[in-house]
Amino acid sequence: MTSDLLTGKVVLVTGASSGIGEAAARVFAQEGATVVVTARREDRLAALVGALRDKGAEAAHVVGDVRVAEDVARAVDFVVAEYGRLDAAFNNAGIGGDRTPLHLMTDDVYDTVMDTNVRGVFNCLRHEIAAMLATGGGSIVNNSSVGGLVAIPTAAPYIASKHAVVGLTRAAADEYAKQGVRVNAIAPGTTRSEITLDWFGRNPGLQDLVNSLTPQGRTAEPEEIAQAAAWLLSDRCPFLTGTVMPVDGGFVNQ
Ligand code: NDP
Repeated sequence: MTSDLLTGKVVLVTGASSGIGEAAARVFAQEGATVVVTARREDRLAALVGALRDKGAEAAHVVGDVRVAEDVARAVDFVVAEYGRLDAAFNNAGIGGDRTPLHLMTDDVYDTVMDTNVRGVFNCLRHEIAAMLATGGGSIVNNSSVGGLVAIPTAAPYIASKHAVVGLTRAAADEYAKQGVRVNAIAPGTTRSEITLDWFGRNPGLQDLVNSLTPQGRTAEPEEIAQAAAWLLSDRCPFLTGTVMPVDGGFVNQ
């Protein structure tokens, strides 16, 4: 299905080498966007860009680590140099981290999760917003989680990091509202991706448990999350900023 939700928009997607980010790049391209994708695994990014170009989309990739400010700056600079502006960004890169009771959690898990999920989004926001201010505004969607709204056991650093993504979203939305930059977040429920397939693989019965706790009784496909992000990034919701949209089959509504 092709539509025109993002026609003419230049969009940056972080964490696009798999899962929700890869699906987002495909959905945004189908919706007419020029898509620049970034992550650390170049082979996956190159394959994705090739597939998007085969379908007639304009696409490019930049390898980088969201924890490293210079890498994020390089990706944003590439977008502006190549396409003249940055209209929209989906700050999706993130990790789950090992699941352990809080009192057994290691410094390493805490540091890696917070560095990736919080500093990564912070790095993206400051460079993206600077680029958007130079051309009169834009729209940003940060990928939080239902874990940014409610607690989930044995994932304390992840829960803290995704609550922080909500905080960063609200702070940025408030600061730049008058300058034409909208900043929103989505809070996906459990979605089929490498993070969840890994968790399900290591924890027999977990998928059934998650399904039973979700009113719709299932996990999401990555494309369902990407569609919500596409709408928030588009011009269809110009008065919408600072919000956190659950995309979760009713999980946090219970
Ligand atoms: P994946 O593991 O499939 O994707 C994660 C992506 O993030 C990959 O492209 C990975 O690329 C990238 N990434 C990880 N660390 C870094 C880094 N340091 N620098 C740059 N890129 C990085 O998982 P999902 O698609 O599920 O996750 C995407 C987002 O969705 C995450 O923020 C996650 O927390 C969130 N989310 C997922 C849910 C789910 O159930 N799947 C539910 C709620 C939220 P690479 O390794 O190549 O760098």
